[in-house]
Amino acid sequence: HVYTDDEVRQLIKDENVRFLRLMFTDLFGTIKNVEIPISQLDKLLAHKIMFDGSSIDGFVRIEESDMYLYPDMSTWLVFPWGAEHGKVARVICEVYTADRKPFAGDPRNNLIRVLGDMKKAGFTDFNIGPEPEFFLFKMDENGKPTTKLNDQGSYFDMAPMDLGENCRRDIVLELEKMGFEIEAAHHEVAPGQHEVDFKYANALEAADNIQTFKLVVKTVARKYGLFATFMPKPLSGINGSGMHINMSLFNGQGNAFYDESGDLSLSDTAYNFLGGLLKHARNFTAVTNPIVNSYKRLVPGFEAPVYVAWSGSNRSPLIRVPNSRGVSTRLELRSVDPSANPYLAIAAVLEAGLDGIKNDLTPSDSVDRNIYRMDESEREDNNIVSLPSTLHNALKYLATDDVVRDAMGTHLYKSFFEAKTLEYDAYRQQVADWEREQYMEMY
Ligand code: GLN
Ligand code: MG
Ligand code: MG
Ligand code: MG
Repeated sequence: HVYTDDEVRQLIKDENVRFLRLMFTDLFGTIKNVEIPISQLDKLLAHKIMFDGSSIDGFVRIEESDMYLYPDMSTWLVFPWGAEHGKVARVICEVYTADRKPFAGDPRNNLIRVLGDMKKAGFTDFNIGPEPEFFLFKMDENGKPTTKLNDQGSYFDMAPMDLGENCRRDIVLELEKMGFEIEAAHHEVAPGQHEVDFKYANALEAADNIQTFKLVVKTVARKYGLFATFMPKPLSGINGSGMHINMSLFNGQGNAFYDESGDLSLSDTAYNFLGGLLKHARNFTAVTNPIVNSYKRLVPGFEAPVYVAWSGSNRSPLIRVPNSRGVSTRLELRSVDPSANPYLAIAAVLEAGLDGIKNDLTPSDSVDRNIYRMDESEREDNNIVSLPSTLHNALKYLATDDVVRDAMGTHLYKSFFEAKTLEYDAYRQQVADWEREQYMEMY
């Protein structure tokens, strides 16, 4: 629902809202916000709220730093917590340049642009159901995260094994108050690890939801003296955190991936889309797995994908077709991790899939046996390649792929590539404990 100016004024009165948080997302997926008192509402509605874009990662240079925030009034939401000084509402904004054009460096604007390509291709919606996973760590006296886990639970465990259960339940309740429809919440495989699944939404709303979700999880965890992290692999030797993405395209007739008479009841559109995802998978990995640490998760043995393959049934591959059909027919991409900027990641996978449709790509045969038990020559015989093993390799793949680069737009691609190259270089110069333990005495 897009709230009208009058409706917003009424809501502010009814709910005693005193502050407005204007939110947007930077290149790295970090939520940025500026808070304005309600007295500034008219200025906001008249698109007169300005900020300095030069201080935001991946935005602009000093010379052209004035930017405007245009509120998207369908994202109006009153936070359920912190009412001591009157309530706080948030609205997600589109970033506009000084000459009043959508700013190309705003990842959310970029997703809106890419959704325009989808509409030109004849579809109405790209629906996304994310499965974000996270860890709860104990905090020290200074509110800093420790590496001490909060429980020893495992997949689907119940209290008293799962001490995080109360916290997780509180997270679900807060989200429900904010209008989320939570489908499931459970303990994940690793100790201290949790997953909360919320109902699918169209791409833009889903990306907004992911951002809001992270904020709520971190805020509620703090109340329990816990630190929530979406870092993909906080501890070696146990599972990392993924953010599997379930996706489907809709057109005027409904779910365009479903065809009762197709193989596995999937439509040609679904197979083409799958073909596009597989073709570009290595090349969009830098976007779906954008930090050095992401690649510590993409290793064998921890339920994270390593090879580019799909399956109609088994769980190990990169892309899986979950069992439901009809309106819920979907593809599940399992490489994505929660450090990804959701706006960029969704734009990249959408353009990859649309490229498959445009060029009538057919996916390779499905692999329904355990790829981890194949040796290299068997994988070669089955045309199974690996995902990039480091951020460095992922950037090399990204640089070769026009479709993925176009999905990011030139501005975002350039800033992303530059920033990530620096990030990897900084990492490369570090000497880790592991190296000293291995080599100090040996040499
Ligand atoms: N944590 C696993 C990953 O890294 C997924 C485990 C699961 O959801 N079954 O993707
Ligand atoms: Mg799941
Ligand atoms: Mg999971
Ligand atoms: Mg999953």
